[in-house]
Amino acid sequence: MWTRSLPAGLAGLVLTVSVALAAPAAPDDGALAPSQRTPEDRTQASDLTPSLAPADAAALLSTLSAAPAQLPGQPRDDVIVDVPENPADASIPLNLTPYHAIAPALRALQESDRVSVEIIGQSALGRDLHLVVVTDPMSDAEWTEWQRLSDLRSADPDAALAAMEAGEYDDWKSPLFVNSNIHGNEWEGTDATLQVLDELAFSSDAEVTELLDQHVIAMVVTNNPDGRIAGTRSNGNGFDINRDYITASQPESRAVRAQLIRYDPLTMLDEHGYTGTTLIEPTTGPHGENYEYDLYIRQAIRNGLAMEEAVLGLGEPSVTEVNIPFRNQTDGWDDWPPIFTPMYAMYHGAVGHTVEIPHNPRDPELTPPERHELTRINTAVSRATIEANFAWAHENRMSLLADQLEIFRRGAAGESSRPIGDDLALSLALGDNAKTFLQDYPRAYVIPAERRGDTGAARLARFLLDNDVEVRQARRPFTAGGATYPAGSYVVDMFQAKRGLASTILDVGRDVTTNFPTMYDISAWSQASLWGADVATVPAGSALDGRALSPISAVAPTGYVPPGRPAHYGFAAGTLAGIQAVNTFVDAGVPVRRTASGVFAVPGSARSLVEDAAATYGIAFSAVGTAALRGAVAVDVARVGTSAPADELHALARMGFATTNVNAAGFNAGTYAFADFDALYVSTAGFDPRQLDATRQAAFAAWRAGGGSIVGRGASGWAFSDRAALLDVDLVDPREWNSANGIVAVTNDPASPVTGTASPSSFVSNPQHFTGLGAGVRVDQRFGDEGFFLAGHWIGHEAVAGQPVVVSGVAGGADVTLFATEPLYRSHPEGLFPQVANALWQ
Ligand SMILES: [Zn+2]
Repeated sequence: MWTRSLPAGLAGLVLTVSVALAAPAAPDDGALAPSQRTPEDRTQASDLTPSLAPADAAALLSTLSAAPAQLPGQPRDDVIVDVPENPADASIPLNLTPYHAIAPALRALQESDRVSVEIIGQSALGRDLHLVVVTDPMSDAEWTEWQRLSDLRSADPDAALAAMEAGEYDDWKSPLFVNSNIHGNEWEGTDATLQVLDELAFSSDAEVTELLDQHVIAMVVTNNPDGRIAGTRSNGNGFDINRDYITASQPESRAVRAQLIRYDPLTMLDEHGYTGTTLIEPTTGPHGENYEYDLYIRQAIRNGLAMEEAVLGLGEPSVTEVNIPFRNQTDGWDDWPPIFTPMYAMYHGAVGHTVEIPHNPRDPELTPPERHELTRINTAVSRATIEANFAWAHENRMSLLADQLEIFRRGAAGESSRPIGDDLALSLALGDNAKTFLQDYPRAYVIPAERRGDTGAARLARFLLDNDVEVRQARRPFTAGGATYPAGSYVVDMFQAKRGLASTILDVGRDVTTNFPTMYDISAWSQASLWGADVATVPAGSALDGRALSPISAVAPTGYVPPGRPAHYGFAAGTLAGIQAVNTFVDAGVPVRRTASGVFAVPGSARSLVEDAAATYGIAFSAVGTAALRGAVAVDVARVGTSAPADELHALARMGFATTNVNAAGFNAGTYAFADFDALYVSTAGFDPRQLDATRQAAFAAWRAGGGSIVGRGASGWAFSDRAALLDVDLVDPREWNSANGIVAVTNDPASPVTGTASPSSFVSNPQHFTGLGAGVRVDQRFGDEGFFLAGHWIGHEAVAGQPVVVSGVAGGADVTLFATEPLYRSHPEGLFPQVANALWQ
């Protein structure tokens, strides 16, 4: 609240400072390349700090230093500035709130002493994301006590349960969370949220004052302003944010993830549309195997029924039924992957629900009045679910808290999860929806860090910390489960409150092929299997000697530069950070070479850039003599012509490749030339080489003869190769496997420059494989033998054990590599990125 009393001229700096106080820099941006990071930093530096005289700044800083330290959960009020009016905002024709109208609405809410409005991050295109926190005002002392009880829940669930028994939580305001508009073209959750907030801010109804007396209500106004304005499902990077929560590759998911961790809310709604019939979760099976599902479902089914009653109680003639998938469907709407926001929130102890409002207002055949009527009804439905959820959570406050504490207690005690025992849930379940998997948790996971500068291990440890998972680090070598691990290893003790989340990150997952006929989205993900770090399992029942281990809250820097003046600096590039370092050197014009043994080297004269790379990417460099570089080849791929979807372009950008989307028409028109590119990456149908005119056909042949690299992925990559007569190979792409996906064991050719040092597992979606290999086509990677399918959903996978999935060869002088796997999928499998980098660098 203290920021509001400052002079208006200081607004910009206040904003910057308060952001810095309460929201430490988003730590796991995947160590973005500097070229990506700079614009964001520049935005913060210039846009948020308008002209401010030095004297004013000094006065302000003295004010700030006198202010009490901000508690993590204590809301602050940011200065909300207007953005220019945008007449093209897609909300306007729908008679809904355009993004530029949100700032004035939030300032109006700030007139209430119950309301704080925070800027919790920026979208992919740099637009502010707003969190509104509403509660009965509390003094700093009250917030300190609130924070203590809030933290106690996961820090010491036994103590929290005892405190609850003793009545200490009776006056504690429990947190409730609502997220809206994560799909930009599902607008009305935002409008409903603003209506609800207006009521909460200014109503004197007893219902409202009692609610605010006992809860901290946190609402994200829009999780996707880029999509709201453009009328797109995805954000400005082309990502579906509601597929990104367990990956957190996008700023929108990282911002809301931080708020979920900050509050560990008891309930969480994610407002969507449009499914014809209003849909309210809980879901069909299979249910995520790391939830304490028996505790979740007995709350979620009742909250769902309460929301249903409120929706039907609206009396809207077009809203006469509600689909609760757990009750109404037998399959197809599962909560298996924590890519979805409510499922991710469940790992932080929330009873999470996706809510789908009914009517699609996007049909171009609708007249404006018809469209406005649909959005009016949708807004009313969304509002009804939010208000009913609040009312139900308020009525069941202590029961919800008790179950959340029981989730955390089971984790901390290392107890097994349990089957559903709730009579109501069992009686309402349709089909197999009441079946749950009981996870077998190991005693611990260890991420060994024996090599100096193991950026893969550091990256995974940092990601775990960013997800509120407890991580310890070995001060000295230690033994667990019969294995000895080196000093520096990261240890995740599975006796912890959020062990479900730790497990979903570190376990490979499960093959659910035979459990349900269809799945809603992906069925496998795993940072342990797909992010390139080694992860060892300490079996259940083993002792874990805590004396060698210290809790950590941050990961120590891994970079190292040897002293002296070596002729060359060597480093490994088998991780995302290593690729980023290579591309930074190439961008800066530093000659990079790769030896036959896979060591990358830059000249000793590049010392200052080497120091930068050690600091920025955590690279540990070694001293390399000139003799060691005999036979080394230059790595100088900077510019990549692409025909690829948004997620793959994002992954290429994270690696530091400069990409330009190309097609035959652009080459023919002279918009760009083959000479503009060092490599091509093709995975969509947009670039048909047969459409190049005769001049460009000749230029393409000359470019290949000059040693260009071509990487193709999937059916379109293979088709590009086939149409350009590059590799003599066929692709098997069964239509019935369109929705199959999962993690597979693979066998790599150790002599392959693409996969020789690759991970033993990979990811497939719409699985394919190669066949009919002609002369000169090498197999770099195959599916493993029987049992190769490790996790996911893929009916019939047994038939393709051992089949080739990465192949390569030389065509007209060009190195060509084709992938049937998904090494860049949704920017998730970072440990597979080096295969693509290696192929581009050939
Ligand atoms: Zn949606």
